Amino acid sequence: MAQETIHNEIEKILVSEEEIQKKCKELGAILTEEYEGKFPLAIGVLKGALPFMSDILRHTEIHLEMDFMDVSSYDGGTSSTGEVKILKDLNTKVEGRDLIIVEDIIDSGLTLNYLVDLFKYRKANSIKIVTLLDKPAGRTADITADLIGFEVPDEFVVGYGLDYAEKYRNLSYIGVLKPEIYGG
Ligand code: 5GP
Ligand code: MG
Ligand code: MG
Repeated sequence: MAQETIHNEIEKILVSEEEIQKKCKELGAILTEEYEGKFPLAIGVLKGALPFMSDILRHTEIHLEMDFMDVSSYDGGTSSTGEVKILKDLNTKVEGRDLIIVEDIIDSGLTLNYLVDLFKYRKANSIKIVTLLDKPAGRTADITADLIGFEVPDEFVVGYGLDYAEKYRNLSYIGVLKPEIYGG
């Protein structure tokens, strides 16, 4: 009998492991070029950005610092309200620093909008946004990433950091769950 694994719960793969790894290499090289001679602070937004941050930064060849932020949007029902609660703040001062915000996905853009405003208020010297996925159909805030891995359709995706009920973050690819998994 075939082994039951989490892969059986995936309806389709949108972005393969190979595509992701190739892209991470490319993005790492771009960051190396853009930040040559600088000492940027890479900020990962927990928990979704963790695998992506790890993979792109290992392909950079500059000195940089890493820190993490954990935020949650106040839930106004099914959609985000734009009000963001800081669950874990940075340990590093951002004043005068060149920031690279690393995100898993931009949907409405409200989370990133809040973070960008916060870091501007804290007097960052520059802010760049790097996102693995972009879902432009969901956008309500005026936010554009500087570097985008892949554009995805308006579907709920999981894997490679992205969760459904805290599961599936450990998949090496991005996929869509079988319909019977939701609410199950
Ligand atoms: P935004 O503030 O841009 O609407 O949403 C940002 C956060 O919502 C993302 O960092 C992610 O945690 C979550 N999110 C948005 N779309 C998806 C999706 O398709 N799948 C998963 N797993 N999370 C999503
Ligand atoms: Mg996120
Ligand atoms: Mg989530």
